[in-house]
Amino acid sequence: MAVSSGTSALHLALRACECGPGDEVILPSLNFVAAANVVAHTGAVPVFCDVRGSHDLNLDPADVEARLTRRSKAILVLHYGGFPCDMDSVLDIATRHGLSVIEDAAHAPGASWRGRKCGTIGRVGCFSFFSNKNLPIGEGGMIVTDDADLAARIRLLRSHGMTTLTWDRHRGHAYTYDVTAQGFNCRLDETRAAIGIVQLGRLASANAARARIAARYRELLHHAGGIVLPFAEVQGTSSHHLAVVVLPSGVDRRRVQERLRQEGVQSSVHYPPIHRFSAYAGGSKGRRELPVTEALANRLLTLPLYPHMDEAQVGIVTGALLDALGAERAAESA
Ligand SMILES: *Cc1c(COP(=O)(O)O)cnc(C)c1O
Repeated sequence: MAVSSGTSALHLALRACECGPGDEVILPSLNFVAAANVVAHTGAVPVFCDVRGSHDLNLDPADVEARLTRRSKAILVLHYGGFPCDMDSVLDIATRHGLSVIEDAAHAPGASWRGRKCGTIGRVGCFSFFSNKNLPIGEGGMIVTDDADLAARIRLLRSHGMTTLTWDRHRGHAYTYDVTAQGFNCRLDETRAAIGIVQLGRLASANAARARIAARYRELLHHAGGIVLPFAEVQGTSSHHLAVVVLPSGVDRRRVQERLRQEGVQSSVHYPPIHRFSAYAGGSKGRRELPVTEALANRLLTLPLYPHMDEAQVGIVTGALLDALGAERAAESA
């Protein structure tokens, strides 16, 4: 089902899985805030879990398990940066506790886990086609599921809860409609859908180009300047949405970013952990802490990565980063 954004994909997926007041949805705090916002919009409570460590920024299944309560309804999985999450462990927990698994595959179109495409492994998968994603069309998203009842609920919620579409009525297949749910307008328009079909044809080659650039980053930064490169050992195939490095602890990331900026290199942070935002800071009272996420939060840095980036540009970025870290060390010992 094509929808208007990745956020609306997640929202409709949660609603279709009947997440609502009284329920809890477990998701990593190291995530884009949209995931927590839409959980809250359903009336359910987002429960944040930890990630595995600097080697693997995906959720820690043992920590998910530790956060289960009788109110747990779903696990909202993120394939961080396009690197598949350990779905075997997640599915095992979900099966034992009767939970829905919703995959946030916004980073992961084309990625796969043990031969299965990310987004098709859980009960329902959600994609984003926003401008900065691997399959960009401006704004847009998609929900995939092999559960026909779930798909029917999503179609209903996508367009106002109406039982027939404008198109059906235009073709004379229907004259009126009933409204059987309080739905939304989360439709994708034809123009963007047409762009998406063309972009889909480019996805595999664009992901392959991303993989080559990511490999080059790994070559140039491996063991350099105290940097840790996550996901050295990946099970499955990544879509390489992000080039993330973990800076040495104690480094002033903001100063590093400023030095990069002066060299014309844009950088960003994926993500400021959700539980630290004002809107969510109160929510973790009485809950287990997130020590791994806390320890990593100020060390994550995302470097430029896009399919038409060339080797020289990768060299400029890594050179600027290593210079910035060298300057940090010099300032520290001065
Ligand atoms: C981009 C993104 C979303 C939201 O998608 P939009 O299309 O921007 O609404 C949700 N989750 C993650 C992990 C994302 O990267």
